Amino acid sequence: MTKALVIGAGIAGPVTAAALRKAGIEAAVFEAADRTADGVGAFLTLAVNGLAALETLDLKPMLDGGFDTPRMVVFSGTGRRLADLSSGPRLPDGTVSQTIRRCDLYVSLRDEVVRRGVPVHYGRRLVDAEVTSGGTVVARFADGSEAEGDLRSPPMRACAVAGSRRSWRRAGGGATRRPSALPAGSCATTSSCRS
Ligand SMILES: Cc1cc2nc3c(=O)[nH]c(=O)nc-3n(C[C@H](O)[C@H](O)[C@H](O)COP(=O)(O)OP(=O)(O)OC[C@H]3O[C@@H](n4cnc5c(N)ncnc54)[C@H](O)[C@@H]3O)c2cc1C
Repeated sequence: MTKALVIGAGIAGPVTAAALRKAGIEAAVFEAADRTADGVGAFLTLAVNGLAALETLDLKPMLDGGFDTPRMVVFSGTGRRLADLSSGPRLPDGTVSQTIRRCDLYVSLRDEVVRRGVPVHYGRRLVDAEVTSGGTVVARFADGSEAEGDLRSPPMRACAVAGSRRSWRRAGGGATRRPSALPAGSCATTSSCRS
């Protein structure tokens, strides 16, 4: 089975891994922090496109504890009303944006992808990634460890990078790109990586 390396076990990383699994691609998640972030953070609001994506991946139940947020009102520290705005459109079934404690969403998404068989590795900060001449991708981590995933090319699309300032290298001399241009949750695979 094609294997993808997903960098970052925040919100997008586990969701990306779930999407890969649903597409028949094996996925492993690598997180820079050496421990989970259970209990950390405040609230975040998901717009309806994000809710639709979670629904597609059978992850919408992970929003238990969230609440409808059709509008947002913003106040300054002194209580002055700064803005009153819509949180965006509704889905055809009436669904509106949802606000949830970030750690509740984080924990339930992570636990669910682990339950689906996705390993999450901590203390693995990506520092470099290289495409081998054999067409795989090797991700290198700050602790000196490596992981290998599949990267079918051409064309090379997304890659195993997140937050790294070091350059993306293609073994044997190819185009370089800056990993920092890609968000955490990117995956080490390509659009043509269907197994
Ligand atoms: C601990 C934490 C608490 C947060 N709390 C809130 C909040 O209360 N409200 C809010 O609106 N937003 C919060 N955010 C931000 C919010 O989660 C994200 O902006 C949003 O959900 C997008 O998700 P994301 O997965 O892209 O990013 P994030 O949720 O930020 O996840 C990115 C993950 O990638 C990891 N990572 C980064 N670089 C590397 C690397 N080189 N190698 C391996 N892993 C790497 C990070 O450690 C992080 O766990 C928080 C983020 C974190 C990390």
